[in-house]
Amino acid sequence: MTRSPILLIHGGAWDIPADLLDAHEQGVFDALQEGWRLLEHDGSALDAVETAVTALENDPAFDAGRGSFLTRDGRVQLDALIMDGATLRAGGVACVERIRNPIQAARLVLDKSPHVYFVGPGAEEFAQSQGMTLIDNSELVLDRERRRLAEAQAREQAGAPDRTFSGHPEDSHDTVGAVALDSQGRLAAATSTGGTLNKDPGRVGDSSLIGCGCYADNASAAVSLTGWGEPIMKLVLGKWATDRVLAGRSPEQVAPEAMAYLLRRTGGHGGIILLAPDGRYGLAHNTPRMAWGVHTADGPRVGTILRDDSETEEE
Ligand code: ASP
Repeated sequence: MTRSPILLIHGGAWDIPADLLDAHEQGVFDALQEGWRLLEHDGSALDAVETAVTALENDPAFDAGRGSFLTRDGRVQLDALIMDGATLRAGGVACVERIRNPIQAARLVLDKSPHVYFVGPGAEEFAQSQGMTLIDNSELVLDRERRRLAEAQAREQAGAPDRTFSGHPEDSHDTVGAVALDSQGRLAAATSTGGTLNKDPGRVGDSSLIGCGCYADNASAAVSLTGWGEPIMKLVLGKWATDRVLAGRSPEQVAPEAMAYLLRRTGGHGGIILLAPDGRYGLAHNTPRMAWGVHTADGPRVGTILRDDSETEEE
């Protein structure tokens, strides 16, 4: 049976300042167009999420690829995961420093390796062995981020409380992600991030961990998350959400429930996009804003705010 395709995207959940709203909406819109071009011509959900996330990685407005947050020692370290809901194949990379598009390296892991997850230099060697060009880390670093790191470290020196996760307008969660349903009824998910500002080198967040920041299973749903990674990991929140869809709840209900659960159990903040194999979907965030986009056969829609259901209690 042919399905009507759907593509959902997020570009991070935080208190996006007014002067950055346009850049976020434009970036999400452009990525939607690129992913949709494949889906509308019967392309696979897997290719669509890879393409959409590649576009977001290439856009310096987001904390993924070039323009990502810097580690404590001033480097970009990137994490990404892609998952095929039709086969449960997955590919992940973490702490890569020399790859421009980590989601493409993750896709190579999915396609070409018997393994699921590579980290650090091993991930870079694998990507290179599959034909990817390794770059110098400095090509991923923006002056904007050098300044942002210096400010964060000055605040730290001054003994200010860590506001990385406080929703302060300057401290963002700009991770990117996409979930898609294709005309063959296949689901896929992809998430890519530069992690959190001033993170310790080697730190891995939720984004690239299966079932945490990303998951896809045709038997349940596809999901991508953004936000404060440590609480999301502790709750294995992506799998929590897809399991609830499997149990019969709708993605529209589960998305805000996941955010309420995150807040209630861990004090965490973030955003979620969730898509079921029947085409129902849900988006939610318990931050002031989330850059989001949805493309169906009816066309694209983008925004930076949804009704805040963060206080919804799960049943
Ligand atoms: N979840 C990401 C991490 O903790 C950060 C983000 O979403 O911006 O690495």
